Amino acid sequence: MADMVLLGDEAVARGAIDAGLTAAYSYPGTPATEILEYLIHHYAQHGRPHAAWCANEKTAYEEALGVSFAGRRVMVSMKHVGLNVAADPFINSALVALRGGLVLAVADDPGMHSSQNEQDSRYFSDFARVICLEPADQQQAYDMTREAFDLSERFEIPVMIRLVTRLAHSRTLVHTAEPRTENPPSKAENPASLWILMPHIARQRWHELLLRQKDILAYTENSGHNPLKLNGGAHEFGVITAGIAYNYYRENLEDLGVDPPHLHIGAYPIPEEKVRRLAARVKRLLILEEGYPFVEKRLRGIILPGISVEGKESGRLPADGELNPDIVRSALNLPSRKTIDIPGLSLAGRPPQLCSGCPHCDTLNALKQALAPYKESVVTSDIGCYTLGALPPYSAVESCVCMGASIGMAKGAAEAGLHPVVAVIGDSTFLHSGVTPLMDAVAANANMTLIIADNGTVAMTGTQPTVLSQPQLEKVVLGLGVDPAHFHVLTAHPKNLEQNAEVLAQEIKHQGLSVIISRRQCLEAAKLTKGGAA
Ligand code: SF4
Repeated sequence: MADMVLLGDEAVARGAIDAGLTAAYSYPGTPATEILEYLIHHYAQHGRPHAAWCANEKTAYEEALGVSFAGRRVMVSMKHVGLNVAADPFINSALVALRGGLVLAVADDPGMHSSQNEQDSRYFSDFARVICLEPADQQQAYDMTREAFDLSERFEIPVMIRLVTRLAHSRTLVHTAEPRTENPPSKAENPASLWILMPHIARQRWHELLLRQKDILAYTENSGHNPLKLNGGAHEFGVITAGIAYNYYRENLEDLGVDPPHLHIGAYPIPEEKVRRLAARVKRLLILEEGYPFVEKRLRGIILPGISVEGKESGRLPADGELNPDIVRSALNLPSRKTIDIPGLSLAGRPPQLCSGCPHCDTLNALKQALAPYKESVVTSDIGCYTLGALPPYSAVESCVCMGASIGMAKGAAEAGLHPVVAVIGDSTFLHSGVTPLMDAVAANANMTLIIADNGTVAMTGTQPTVLSQPQLEKVVLGLGVDPAHFHVLTAHPKNLEQNAEVLAQEIKHQGLSVIISRRQCLEAAKLTKGGAA
């Protein structure tokens, strides 16, 4: 037992270690990256629990499932859009009988600090019919993670810990508890009846999951994570907070002058009976939650229609972006706080940009030169530092939708009759989700050029290692059936601009699929690699 100053992400990781974790898997993604980074650091120092980056969130989840089947405790962590990738095993894992506790830590990014959307993972927990715990602070992140393993084993379901950026990336003191020992490995009796989701077994497992909902709801009704304060008789209004929004409410409560009835929700499914007890005392309910109006929308099916429900859905609070104490203050009808202007104190805007000397600059310059003779072209892109090639001075790429999408979008554009069509994807993103669309492109001999911008790392999230090293990447590309005559490996460097642009120009002219690996190590990764050359 110790007191530690931890990020929200680190509190989740520490809670998992102290809950007897055997293994953890993840794919890097802001704001969840630091969960596995903490565990990898711990693994390097202590040799346990096992912690590893995976090809993507789906493979990470499936590896976690195998650990749970072996009776041991496991965590899988990811950012919110990563759960879209892992949705298939996640949803189905609620139907199989888990043995060792399986905890999914997912970090949402309201305000889109580093994401392409601000989807709310609570919907996924509801969709899978499992428990979601949503901490309001780092101490709860630690405590809830420990408890999540017990709940997972008790109900034989995965349990979600939902974080948001502001909590994941802020740091405070956390009191840790006595560590628990790991479960020993073991095999289930008659596993086929528990784990094979053939229709006749899946129907039975689904029915059993639905029957368990009553017990799951009883847990959240009685959970200390869902405290209800009725504060006497009838009131004009009551407040429901969820997760981190609790802090923004507390910050303003003193100025409110009254203490309205209040339900805080930290454990889902929503404790319906507590909501009804709260609603029976008030004329209107104010819902303060980070993300989508998840609680607000569900209340309309729980309480009587005469009670006004106000939140993001009703327009009482902004529907998009992050909450903060001032937004909550306004929703509470409190006057704005007095602020002090300090002359000369203003932060310069810092728009994201590629590092000076980044290898992607050389790849993009060669591409622009190769495309210069064409009046029009299509350049699809993916998620990584090279996405910044959409901005001046490059203005070289035109789309970024989700991991791996560049290749499929390029194939579609080529089949729609556009030419030339180029897809740009990083090595890690290619291994994450680009391999399967490249198979489609090979099968169709799509009239497109694929550039794999290989910087040897997952640069954007902090230079985590890619799952396969350089020679293996080439073998993967050729192993998918790419014509070796139209496959090139270039070194992205200013001195090679002319010759690289010429190779690209030739392959863009080729009527069919060509693949080019444009390679040079990320400068940030090179700084960290002993003897690494940029
Ligand atoms: S972190 Fe690496 S890949 Fe990203 S912009 Fe900087 S040098 Fe380029």
